[in-house]
Amino acid sequence: MAEAGTLHDAFIDELRDTYDAEKQLTKALPKLAKAAADPRLRQAFETHLEETRGQIERLEQVFASLEEKARGKHCDGIAGIIEEGASMMEEDFDDTTMDACLIAAGQRAEHYEMAAYGTLVAWAEAMGHTEAAELLQQTLDEEKAADKKLSSLAEGGINQSAADAAHSDEDDDEGDEEEEDEAPKASAQSRRSSAATTAARRR
Ligand code: ZN
Ligand code: FE
Ligand code: FE
Repeated sequence: MAEAGTLHDAFIDELRDTYDAEKQLTKALPKLAKAAADPRLRQAFETHLEETRGQIERLEQVFASLEEKARGKHCDGIAGIIEEGASMMEEDFDDTTMDACLIAAGQRAEHYEMAAYGTLVAWAEAMGHTEAAELLQQTLDEEKAADKKLSSLAEGGINQSAADAAHSDEDDDEGDEEEEDEAPKASAQSRRSSAATTAARRR
């Protein structure tokens, strides 16, 4: 009779899944970079591509520390996220809207990875796999930083210029009356920062 699998087996499975996810991302990130109009966004994707290559090597060190062969197992989750990103890129959006959508796609991937590495770190710590836990924590920190970078680009101008292009006619047509009693500059500002807070909380 086969023995029931343990958390250690589940941990190795998750490592294989994540190893494959990182490999898929090294193919997807260049496409995101190429589609980006904003040079800072393009740079962010290219930088994260380099980091991702390092993360693959780091996972190989994790496997070695556990005396396991580095091996991947198809990650359906990231494949789905990448596929959605690919269909979004086929849409005919204006440049800055496309950039906002590329950020949205990138952040879906980063959050998926943050969930995976968060679990891996916790399991490694629980089982006393200290070296593995430290290596996985380094990658978790990089994923979080990559996510924050994308948020800062979105909230530092890309979302607003996409939004301005979407609603360019409104200020001209209906601004005058409201401007006097509602101080729209202040209210637009507070609306923007509350949207940013909502987005930050979601992350
Ligand atoms: Zn173990
Ligand atoms: Fe990664
Ligand atoms: Fe990542």
